[in-house]
Amino acid sequence: MSRSIVWAGLAAWLLTPVWAAEPQSTQPVALHAARLVDVVSGRLVNDPWVVIHGDKIAAVGDRSAVPYDASVVELGDTTLVPGLIDCHTHLADMPDVADPTVTLRYSPAEIAYAAIPNARATLQAGFTTVRDVGTYRAFNDVALRDAIAKGLVEGPRMYVAGAYLTITGGAGAMTGLAQDIPLPPTLHYGEANGPWEVRARIRDLAHRGADHIKLLSTGAVLTHGSNPKSIEFTPEELSAAVQEAANFGLKVAAHAHAVEGIKNAIRAGVASVEHATLIDDEGIALAKAHGTYLDMDIYDEECIQNDPTEPADFLQHDRDLADVQRVGFRKAVKAGVKMSFGTDAGICPHGTNARQFAFMVRYGMTAMQAIQAGTINAADLIGHPELFGSITVGKSADIIAVPGNPLDDIQRLEQVQFVMKEGRIYRHD
Ligand SMILES: [Zn+2]
Repeated sequence: MSRSIVWAGLAAWLLTPVWAAEPQSTQPVALHAARLVDVVSGRLVNDPWVVIHGDKIAAVGDRSAVPYDASVVELGDTTLVPGLIDCHTHLADMPDVADPTVTLRYSPAEIAYAAIPNARATLQAGFTTVRDVGTYRAFNDVALRDAIAKGLVEGPRMYVAGAYLTITGGAGAMTGLAQDIPLPPTLHYGEANGPWEVRARIRDLAHRGADHIKLLSTGAVLTHGSNPKSIEFTPEELSAAVQEAANFGLKVAAHAHAVEGIKNAIRAGVASVEHATLIDDEGIALAKAHGTYLDMDIYDEECIQNDPTEPADFLQHDRDLADVQRVGFRKAVKAGVKMSFGTDAGICPHGTNARQFAFMVRYGMTAMQAIQAGTINAADLIGHPELFGSITVGKSADIIAVPGNPLDDIQRLEQVQFVMKEGRIYRHD
């Protein structure tokens, strides 16, 4: 090939407008609705227009912000809300995680396919991002995240843990088996005892694609043989986890029900405490002082109570814990602790996540605070407030629309009519 032909080809390539290759991606899209929830200022904006170029928000304003060539999506009497974010999901497990040994009956491929509807239901419900906090078969979540990012599977943008970091026999371990049954490595991947084993596991998880570390500081409610009031990781192990995760730029989410386990995790410097079921006044003060997020799943008890397979004594025990947790939630809101939106989706069916908003309002939040917990606060906890979490110029075009005004009736968030993620429309009723 002569040099002149190469140059001619290069010049033609340079002169070819980008839209010639992808005509749809550069035509701006303009969304028009009756209202917009501005989670940054905490105000409602009337008669908004939002212009999207490609996958980003290009303008937010009135009609004059709309380019002449924009394709207009008229959404009528709806309210635009930033794409919702759930900071505590389990998309990559079998639907019934109450008995982890269920996982043993399925191949990794079966579990991976079973997760596809979970991801789709979550996105269709208006959740454009999730922080997924653990799977029993390690790295199913990494695979699902990547499949969504490649466009192979429809779902929210995922940030994933890779595996549960847990003590042997702990709340994230697969327990309930006879002692002579060996588990394959991916079913006890995150087991670690002692600060150096914790560090080694975190190095491995970071290397294999984890976006954050999920560890279990105390026992669990829904794990066989586990006591939610027990302490599992020690303060030394928790500190090692936070430091090692930070070496890889990762944050730590700590599952904790018991009050000392909550405080140990906060003192160690975790980014969020999950559940925080038995938090007391000192724990609330510590969370406030350390800037720790509380990610409290105050709705899912309704689904546990409605499960006919649960024994009565278990249900009573669980109901008592739920009442305590909701009182703690109210106190934490009042104290001004940073709060994020996390549902433990998987206990309740995937796609019903938004039902928790009404409970957050019932237990002390304003509607705006509840929406902020599930948008701008959640983006901050995940570590990417610059990418998503509000309808702001330059951020990813993750926008949903709900009928009416969710600040007057928070349950409007359960009636999502329109979902856009990264500029692409996934739902428009
Ligand atoms: Zn969970």
